Amino acid sequence: MTSYVYDFAEGNKDMADLLGGKGANLAEMTRLGLPVPAGFTVTSAACRQYLTTGRAPAELDRQIRLHLTSLERSCGRLLGQAADPLLLSVRSGARHSMPGMMETVLDIGLNDYAVLGLARSAGNERFAWDSYRRLVQMFGNTVMQVDGAVFEDALTRLKEQCQVADDTRLDTAELIRLVETYKDLIREHAGEAFPQDPAEQLRRAILAVFASWNADRARLYRRREHIPDDLGTAVTVQRMVFGNLGPDSGSGVAFTRDPATGRPGVYGDYLPNAQGEDVVSGTRNAVPLQELQRLDPHSYNRLLAHMRQLESHYRDLCDIEFTIERGVLWMLQTRVGKRTSQAAFAIAGQLAQEAVISTEEALERVDGEGLARLMFPRFDTSATSEVLARGTPASPGAAVGAAVFDSAEAVRRSADGEKVVLVRQETTPDDLPGMIAAEAVLTSRGGKTSHAAVVARGMGKVCVCGTGSITVNEAERAFSTAGATIREGTVISVDGSEGTVYRGAVPLVESEVMRSFETGRPHPGKDAAQVVTDVHRLLAQADATRRLEVRANADTPQDAARARRFGAQGIGLCRTEHMFLGDRRPLIETMILAHTDAEREAALAALLPLQRQDFIEILQAMDGFPVTIRLLDPPLHEFLPDRTELAVRAAQREARGQDTDPHDHELLRAVNRMRETNPMLGLRGVRLGLVVPGLVAMQVRAVAEAVVARIRADGDPQPEIMVPLVGAAQELTLVREEVERVWTHVTSAAGITVTCPVGTMIELPRAALTAGRIARNADFFSLGTNDLTQTTWGFSRDDVEAEFFSAYLDKNIFERSPFETIDREGVGRLIELAVAEGRESRPGLTVGVCGEHGGDPDSIHFFHRAGLDYISCSPFRVPVARLEAGRAAQRSSTGPQDG
Ligand code: PEP
Ligand code: MG
Repeated sequence: MTSYVYDFAEGNKDMADLLGGKGANLAEMTRLGLPVPAGFTVTSAACRQYLTTGRAPAELDRQIRLHLTSLERSCGRLLGQAADPLLLSVRSGARHSMPGMMETVLDIGLNDYAVLGLARSAGNERFAWDSYRRLVQMFGNTVMQVDGAVFEDALTRLKEQCQVADDTRLDTAELIRLVETYKDLIREHAGEAFPQDPAEQLRRAILAVFASWNADRARLYRRREHIPDDLGTAVTVQRMVFGNLGPDSGSGVAFTRDPATGRPGVYGDYLPNAQGEDVVSGTRNAVPLQELQRLDPHSYNRLLAHMRQLESHYRDLCDIEFTIERGVLWMLQTRVGKRTSQAAFAIAGQLAQEAVISTEEALERVDGEGLARLMFPRFDTSATSEVLARGTPASPGAAVGAAVFDSAEAVRRSADGEKVVLVRQETTPDDLPGMIAAEAVLTSRGGKTSHAAVVARGMGKVCVCGTGSITVNEAERAFSTAGATIREGTVISVDGSEGTVYRGAVPLVESEVMRSFETGRPHPGKDAAQVVTDVHRLLAQADATRRLEVRANADTPQDAARARRFGAQGIGLCRTEHMFLGDRRPLIETMILAHTDAEREAALAALLPLQRQDFIEILQAMDGFPVTIRLLDPPLHEFLPDRTELAVRAAQREARGQDTDPHDHELLRAVNRMRETNPMLGLRGVRLGLVVPGLVAMQVRAVAEAVVARIRADGDPQPEIMVPLVGAAQELTLVREEVERVWTHVTSAAGITVTCPVGTMIELPRAALTAGRIARNADFFSLGTNDLTQTTWGFSRDDVEAEFFSAYLDKNIFERSPFETIDREGVGRLIELAVAEGRESRPGLTVGVCGEHGGDPDSIHFFHRAGLDYISCSPFRVPVARLEAGRAAQRSSTGPQDG
């Protein structure tokens, strides 16, 4: 029979798929002998069944009853009994942490009788009635679907009647009245009474937590974090302990290292006389954890011992939630903590140096996206800017945007292309869309562990929180400091590394990590120097591990030089079309408009020296490394002026009574003649080379003459010529003949014997399907995954992402855009086929990739496994690609395959 419920003592940390992160780690702490309030976990398998069929498994009720009975036995109390009742918390806990996105119900078991028993056992009537009103409110809202505002309004009215500013001032009698009001509201809005039966409360709360997996905010969070929608959540049911029983009680959050920088030490927040929710919501400002040493040294020392034990057990930064109930410390949660990218590199590096983890594990614990974040710019602190406020630096980075005061406004403005900073007193999970839309989040309340901080860090968003010196007036859409009022729309700058907020747009400077690549020298500065060292150490390890070579897509000497500084081992794609733009465009126009062979040849002859010089400089910048030069790819009309622009010019002249400009007239005729309904499927790529006489010859001559010049200058040029958009072997054969003819002609005239591999892009499904034949005449393949994705899906790459991809993502047709991450099922199969059949007909055929996917971490792991020789990406992504190629090699040699 399937077990849907596990006691904490029955699980362990490796069971997160079934028990969720929270359930698995509570089980682990229980096994380690740490003081964990007893409880059990309902599995995510039960949730999945509930979500797919609308019913919990038939067995579930019985299993919950059995586990509840044993929990009651171990606690020596019955759930909701009239005297000294056992009370339970019911919390969500999925495989991946989704902070605050799903529901929690606390104080399950309280009813009209148990509340009296709780008052007696706690010796505190007010506390008991406050707990009861919280349960009725939470249960009414979460389980019985009564709008939360209904309860909030009732509370506000009561506070007004009693003339108190906050609910801690309501006395017992007033809380008793409030409970009655809440119960009436539930009856009115839900059409049934608040259930008094504790077992029913428990059962319904568990189902409500299951259902909260599909709440809008949870779905949105998963989409952003690329968490699959079908995992479901586990639910942990645990004995309540109370941090709000007086000054000898409290709740806190602790980290075994600083999650912002990775530095070892004791970090965290503590809130005396409060429940854990109060710490996380940031509604009251917590004190630094060190304060607990003074308040309760015994608990503090025990906590530190548990933290040390957990960090050495998990061999990683742990974050911990704890509660002290009347001087007794309870551990409520632990997990391997979220951290900034800087901290990820620092912690992995330190732990490997301390031999706590292996160097392989260190590489596994960092990733390309984190490295990319470390390469972003930060503020230029030498610029004089007015400091508006300082708060807690909760998530590093630099961001500039217009201040906005609610989530909807952030979403609206950012959809219009405006950069915004979301400013709130504190954030709640309902602010998630605004946090995603904003460049940064600024709050006046809450510490490093507040919702705003945790969520922003998880997203890599800039965040400053707990900025007590500002007063946020969300209704007035402004915040004020001692000397200024900042209204909605005012541009501010937020430094999440320093915790500083500036007026206006502060200029940015490049990051130390970026500078270290650009100059080859780490920049001084304590943390900064360390992060540079950590990054380079792990990159060196990735380089030593990877099989994939990393090249860059570059078409200027400057980009080529940068790519080399960033560690590229060649150019995988030099797009020559960029060399035809700017002041050279008239030459291309002349070529297109040519009436005679002689005119066309003259135009091409004028282009030749310019192209040659481009290639000389690029080959020089990449001396000794391969440079893959692609023959002209885009449709020729892209080099002509816009049709409407020409038509308007002609109409204006006509209106002024002037004659048409003959050149414009001719251009317009050419544009009209060459107009295509689907230019991406039209006269472009190899097709151009086959129908425009002299074009291929001019480009090849330019490459060959550049090679001759480089050799004469004692260089080591390694050109490769690549033919785009081939769909049939015969196309490549014809172009290849032309390439070889010109090549031999130029090099033999110069008295130089140098070969130049000629290869092709594989970017059409037909090319992949006939790769065996194509390979007979190709020295290499380069996968053009941009076009291959476009043509495999039939998606116009320039249109669809903006047009309807968000609907496709919503409907789970895919989890990520196939233009960002390779679609393994479709495009991936074509790639595997092309690699296999290409190498079968030509053993040892070199295969690389030069589409955008070459810089995407997830796709890189696929390319490694598909047996590619190299990946090519933009120069700035080269370090990311090196790191991920190393991780991919390591993963496939040591561990289970990734998904
Ligand atoms: C590709 O199609 O993947 C490619 C690299 O070529 P382009 O993006 O220039 O079409
Ligand atoms: Mg292409």
